[in-house]
Amino acid sequence: MRLEAITFDLDDTLWDNGGVMARTERGHYAWLDAALAEWLAALGEPRDTRFAERFALEAFVARRQALARAHPLRRGDFTWLRRRALVELLGEYGLAREHAEHWAGRAMERFMALRHEITPHEGIDDLLSELGRRYRLASITNGNVEVARLPLGRHFPVAIAAGEMLAPKPDPRPFLAALSRLGTRPARALHVGDSWAEDALPARRLGMQAAWIGEADRPLPPGIHRLAHVRELPALIAWLEKQR
Ligand SMILES: [Mg+2]
Repeated sequence: MRLEAITFDLDDTLWDNGGVMARTERGHYAWLDAALAEWLAALGEPRDTRFAERFALEAFVARRQALARAHPLRRGDFTWLRRRALVELLGEYGLAREHAEHWAGRAMERFMALRHEITPHEGIDDLLSELGRRYRLASITNGNVEVARLPLGRHFPVAIAAGEMLAPKPDPRPFLAALSRLGTRPARALHVGDSWAEDALPARRLGMQAAWIGEADRPLPPGIHRLAHVRELPALIAWLEKQR
């Protein structure tokens, strides 16, 4: 088959995201707690209970989940959910609306800075350079990494933030948007990602080839190919190119 384009999931496909999210989650919340206490003290309005004592990290997580249930269209827009949850909690902590908005915004800036401190898998940069010479590349993420903020971003002329489109994968729209912007069609494209339900299955349903990065042995329908690691991608592509 003749491949023209390759689309990539980001988190847990091009880097391990578990540690990044844990650090980012704790880090920005602790930053907010400390910065807020300092600001209130400087105003002469110190509180008996610190923000993170009144609302532990678990309470923040629970509030985001409740908001996602209450606003199903926004369920994939994690940046919106986070910001909105912070505004609500800060309001309940006694901040005026404008101050709650301000501190939620500052905390989100901190969140996004930490969120982008990622270490791509070794060799990814060379791999994408090589592939970029032969194929059109796009990224499609449900997460809130802005790939253009990363050095890797230069490899992706098209970057789709599916959550912010309000159509997170497995919705077909982010795949179709990527392919149309790359000027190709599903039968000429391969999607690479670590989620069976959000990457491999929806790509395959559209008629794309799918490279699924996963551990579990499961029966693979035709058109879904298992990789143990993204570094195995060139071998799969070479094999696909030989198929009729
Ligand atoms: Mg992923």
